[in-house]
Amino acid sequence: MAKILKGMQPEKFFDYFEEISEIPRGSYHEKQISDYLKAFAEANGCTAEQDEYYNLLIKKPASTGYENAHPVIFHGHMDMVLDKESWVEQDMLTEGVRLKVEGDYIKGDGTTLGADNGVGVAFMMMILSDESLAHPPIECIIAVQEEVGKRGGQQFDAKKMNVTGKRLMDFNWHKPDTVFAGCAGDISAYYRIPITYEETKADELFFQLSITGGVGGHSEFDIHLERANVLQQFGRLVNLIAKDCEVHFTDLTGGVNRYVIPGNMDNVIAVKTSDVDGVKEVVEKFADTLRNEYKIADKELKVTMVSAEKQEKVISYEDTKKIAKALHLLPCGVQSMSLEIEGLVESSNTMAMISTEDNQVSILSTIPSAVTSRKYDILQKMNDLAELMGASVDTFADCPEWPFRPESKLLATAKNAFKVLYGEEPNVEVSHSSLELGLFCSKIPGLECISLGPKAYDVHTPKERLDWTSVQMVWDHIKEILKELDD
Ligand SMILES: [Zn+2]
Repeated sequence: MAKILKGMQPEKFFDYFEEISEIPRGSYHEKQISDYLKAFAEANGCTAEQDEYYNLLIKKPASTGYENAHPVIFHGHMDMVLDKESWVEQDMLTEGVRLKVEGDYIKGDGTTLGADNGVGVAFMMMILSDESLAHPPIECIIAVQEEVGKRGGQQFDAKKMNVTGKRLMDFNWHKPDTVFAGCAGDISAYYRIPITYEETKADELFFQLSITGGVGGHSEFDIHLERANVLQQFGRLVNLIAKDCEVHFTDLTGGVNRYVIPGNMDNVIAVKTSDVDGVKEVVEKFADTLRNEYKIADKELKVTMVSAEKQEKVISYEDTKKIAKALHLLPCGVQSMSLEIEGLVESSNTMAMISTEDNQVSILSTIPSAVTSRKYDILQKMNDLAELMGASVDTFADCPEWPFRPESKLLATAKNAFKVLYGEEPNVEVSHSSLELGLFCSKIPGLECISLGPKAYDVHTPKERLDWTSVQMVWDHIKEILKELDD
């Protein structure tokens, strides 16, 4: 085996990380890595069960003296996001990650690294193979398809697989001095507006209407920054135009993906020749309004209207108004703040994408919330609006929250173990993003969870990198927690 990571500590961690990096493991292509991990577990005297999706449950008996302690679950996912820079020719479906070391960082060669969540897999391999550890009975859940809507976790049957633990440690975190202790759940929803088309009239002119230059950002990590949701602003603008003149959308598309706040939007619109001056005035005034409202959060926003080619058909005036009103009225941005944790967003909604097909316009939103009832209440508002305007709503990827439990015994143990090692308490963090752990909390009643992990940056992108110098600290923390889980 080539040893690119030779000399890094803890040695076994980097041996295993290098081994699994050689195995291609994109989401939906997990058979090879799953079989490999199953064989690894069995070779180390553990039992391993693989379900039909290639999720794994691996069990290791307690070390001497811990036979009567309650089991502990470790959790991570074996799949990774496959992404690469445009100049990379590597076929990531058939070839593993080509590791590179630059100072404190391990990276791929212009590709994602898969530290998310190869780090978790490598920690579990250490735990399963280390005979010197003191630990209660261990159950490792290594999920598939986490990166594609947490599908492995959705399909994982904790009862059938006979998971018995009620305390779980996850490794999908990225701050070694911080214990992650709770996160929001989320759900995605399509708001669908039926549309009819009309023939273009002789006196209509076409313009490309654009709002561009918005910063956008991640819909869960950046939502509190109050940046413009340009889809919403686009609806607001066309709503203003439609007040005094007949305006028509043409086919609408926009947005990046369901977790990105849209920062750019354009559409070719049609207006009557006699209305053009009036519309231009509204657009200019609106540009001023946005400049003023977003002078801090989104300074580069631009609104423009330039001539465009004539099209044969347009969306009817009535339906154009409906779409503009829906974009303007659908819940968008921060909806409620947590009163338990200062500065934490509790619920939000992001209208992320818009598309036109099969005679309907679909607006895709993702709604994260730490409180399930509030998530469904936002959804209800969408349904109420849909009922008023003859639209409809359908949902997918519903994932429950992982509730923050300040009184959790496992959290107390993790805090104490950190103090034993480093003389002070770790930070405890809760996030507005949605992780797979909410699913496991709903599948295993009474489950307590924490998440730990070394420093990793720009995950899900070809710039992903792991700060290898921060791994030892997390491993020491894991060992100390395990030692203390003796009841
Ligand atoms: Zn990920």
